[in-house]
Amino acid sequence: MRLPKVCLALSGDTAEDMLGNAESMARDNPLLEFRLDHLKQPLAALPKIHRFLETHQYVTAIATCRRVDNGGKFKGSLASQLDVLAKAQAAGCQIVDLELQSALKSKPEAIARLRSRAGLILSFHDFRATRNLEETLGKMLKIPADFYKIVTTATTLSDNVAMMKFLQKQGGKHSLIGFCMGEQGIISRVLSVRAGSVFTFGSVSADLKTAPGQVTARDLRSIYRIDQVDTATRVYGVAGNPTEHSLSPVIMNTALRRENVNGVYLPLHAKTLKDLIHCVREIPLHGLSITMPYKQAILPYLDNTDAHTAKIGACNTVVRGQEGKLYGFNTDAAGVVRPLEQRLSIENAKVLVLGAGGAARAAVFGLKERGAEVWILNRTSAKAQKLARQAKAHTIKRADLRKMAFDVIINATPVGMGNTRDCPLDCPLKDQEIQARVVFDMVYDPVETHLLQVARSKGIAVIPGVEMFVQQAARQFEIWTGKPAPAGDMLRAVTIALQDRAAAQKQPKS
Ligand code: NAP
Repeated sequence: MRLPKVCLALSGDTAEDMLGNAESMARDNPLLEFRLDHLKQPLAALPKIHRFLETHQYVTAIATCRRVDNGGKFKGSLASQLDVLAKAQAAGCQIVDLELQSALKSKPEAIARLRSRAGLILSFHDFRATRNLEETLGKMLKIPADFYKIVTTATTLSDNVAMMKFLQKQGGKHSLIGFCMGEQGIISRVLSVRAGSVFTFGSVSADLKTAPGQVTARDLRSIYRIDQVDTATRVYGVAGNPTEHSLSPVIMNTALRRENVNGVYLPLHAKTLKDLIHCVREIPLHGLSITMPYKQAILPYLDNTDAHTAKIGACNTVVRGQEGKLYGFNTDAAGVVRPLEQRLSIENAKVLVLGAGGAARAAVFGLKERGAEVWILNRTSAKAQKLARQAKAHTIKRADLRKMAFDVIINATPVGMGNTRDCPLDCPLKDQEIQARVVFDMVYDPVETHLLQVARSKGIAVIPGVEMFVQQAARQFEIWTGKPAPAGDMLRAVTIALQDRAAAQKQPKS
């Protein structure tokens, strides 16, 4: 049986919900899993599923009725679980999923009967860890089945490596379905199909996940391009803690697709750098975006950095060389310089930088290299003084701001993040303190911060943080691929993602 790489996991409280989603998504997702255990009355749904399958002959349907003890929602007896699955087969489902625990308690004839009428997935889920993969498969192989599904929980990124090595070793010998659940399991949800898993699972939407860490089927196809992932696909990712809300996968996968690079970019929720470095070597990962809190901590793990990165003392980009060596770069400075260059001449420009953290350091050194005169204002003045000494810049007291006009003011603090028009206080400067030709806010969520609103109202040109986000990513893309980055497409993709996010936040929670 040749199956698509993604199985759409259908859940819902009612058969109507489930079939409504099946109806609207089957064309793009012809492999469907009906989670009958999620329904209050699974048997009552079967005639409707039967009608649906009759009119959608191209669909391959899997029926699952997982028991509560094994991580599902079905509370009935083992006999009634087998009865639901047998009736689902009669309703047209070509494959049924039975957990190892239920199979071990059933008579072999009962399982053989199920298998005589449809394909059988024998499944095992570990909701705590990734362990004993070979041993579990050994136990499962004693029960004849068409597919053996082993799904575990990733508590580290390295668990994905263990799962994929297992699939590489055993996938040629048996029809396996394998990946890791959890936020840290996303690597294997996308890459397991090239390691040897017959398919992976995707959800209908972010709200309708049937397992922890499940990615939507749409994202698997359109963001991660799972149908194109093969052994030659280069793997990149954003490493941080957390990475759940990172927009980097959206922007980078857009660039990879647009430039026809056989690559995929994944969120890597790394709880430790040791774990991350293990994955870099084993998967292997060809390039990394480094985000909070690892921009400085990654430095000792690198084989080399360019002089610019060493000066800034923070790295946001890693490249894995052919010989496995890791090289560090900082593209945040390009993220500041490129949007400014499009508006004015940086040489001799007077620039005020608010903040003295990692992003401010990249801005200050990047601007000084281009000949700007830089003043630093920071909440903790000692840090501003230290940075000013290192970069040959000036410091300024807040009280003196009203006496000075700048060409550019850059906000490199998080003040304004997540606030809206309704929170007018979250602005790093008062109205009268903003005297400049250009105001640049590094904060990019929301796109229109209060600082930018005030600047606009004063007739000052503004640069939103998304431009920096796009340009620092564009530079990363260039370092990794040697190709010019499609910055316009990247900006469009991130703007849409931010608008979608803002719209989702406004939706009343049901
Ligand atoms: P960081 O290293 O933690 O530095 C934060 C800086 O902001 C410090 O100087 C800190 O002052 C100051 N600060 C923090 N809270 C403040 C407050 N309530 N009032 C006044 N000052 C405050 O962070 P970072 O990596 O530099 O990032 C700074 C901002 O830039 C973040 O919002 C980040 O999202 C944004 N960023 C954007 C991009 C982009 O692509 N658009 C890229 C990088 C960073 P103290 O020294 O007193 O603690």
